[in-house]
Amino acid sequence: MTLLLLTLLGIAAVALGWSARREHRLRLDTMERHERELRELQRRHAAALRESSLHLGTLLDRMIEGLIVIDADGCIRLANRAAAALFGFDPPATGRTLLEAVRHHEVAGVVVRLKSEREVLGHELRLEGATPRILEVNAVALPDSAGALLVFHDLTRLRQLEAIRQEFVANVSHELRTPLSLIRGAAETLIDGGKDDPATLVRFLEIIDRHSSRLALLIEDLLLLSALDSGRIELHVAPVNLRAAVQELCDDHAAAARTRGTTLINEVPPELTVRADAGRLRQVLANLVDNAVKYGREQGEVRTGASVLGAGWVQVFVRDDGRGIPAEARDRVFERFFRVDKARTRAQGGTGLGLAIVKNLVQAHGGEVRVESAENRGTTFYFKLPAA
Ligand code: ADP
Repeated sequence: MTLLLLTLLGIAAVALGWSARREHRLRLDTMERHERELRELQRRHAAALRESSLHLGTLLDRMIEGLIVIDADGCIRLANRAAAALFGFDPPATGRTLLEAVRHHEVAGVVVRLKSEREVLGHELRLEGATPRILEVNAVALPDSAGALLVFHDLTRLRQLEAIRQEFVANVSHELRTPLSLIRGAAETLIDGGKDDPATLVRFLEIIDRHSSRLALLIEDLLLLSALDSGRIELHVAPVNLRAAVQELCDDHAAAARTRGTTLINEVPPELTVRADAGRLRQVLANLVDNAVKYGREQGEVRTGASVLGAGWVQVFVRDDGRGIPAEARDRVFERFFRVDKARTRAQGGTGLGLAIVKNLVQAHGGEVRVESAENRGTTFYFKLPAA
């Protein structure tokens, strides 16, 4: 009996031990599984973090604006490529102080202002250097005094465009005012009694006629340029025989050329054909030939020629043997209202917009214009157009 009891107890103990071991084993398995799951989760989390910081880095580097994040000690925690390019430091600038990296006291001043203002918007600063830049800085303090975020926007191009626009408006006003005041002066003289003298009457009516034509020309050129700027010009492109187009123009300018004793020469090979809007091409040639006659030598020559450039382009030239364009003015002659000799050229009746129109019209055809000149030896304007 006792033996049976002991045996049963033994069996129960073995069974209990076995079940305890089994439970232990199960627990171990579960723990291992949890550990594996945890490790997998950590791996995925780390991968996701890596990917998102990679995305963030790419995004920040693609930004046009410069961006710098500094910590509470004024050290850079993050700076994108645009910021590095604006201030000329090598990325990553992490760990350097803001002043060390940007070397601009005004930027440091913006950060100081953040202590009391929390936000500084639209602060403009100028970066001196080979190409000076104007920057707008927007800055915000990070929560819990954790540092600051600074964004730099390059305003240089915008400011340049504003200056060009202001200069253009001033020029237009001046160009309009000059003929207008001459017309008014002539009209007043006539009203005040000038009309009673036939000779004075004719002289002042001629002034009115000349300057109102000049006004009309100026307004026409301005409207054309504005249409070209906004892409409102529709080109009716078709094959145009270049020699015929140049000949037509030489015939139209023959009378003007005769007054200066200029010989107009058409050297364009007969077979050359370009793809152009015939009317606009005439306008380009007219402006160049008109200038060549005006600024060319008296009793001189104006030659127009062309050749195939290859790769589907034809180059046209208009050459005179006149006073030439000084080297420092050659890059500027295509600017609106630029004149080498303001007083003299204005007296010759030009609007100062002719070459700007030439450049824009040629570009509208996909071509380019350039000038070569030697003082007192002459000037050659070249432009290229697609061959037909
Ligand atoms: P403008 O109406 O004054 O002729 P343009 O735009 O046609 O205006 O020309 C700009 C300036 O370039 C002229 O005022 C003149 O000073 C210079 N220029 C243009 N063509 C010639 C040329 N063939 N020879 C010398 N100077 C020229």
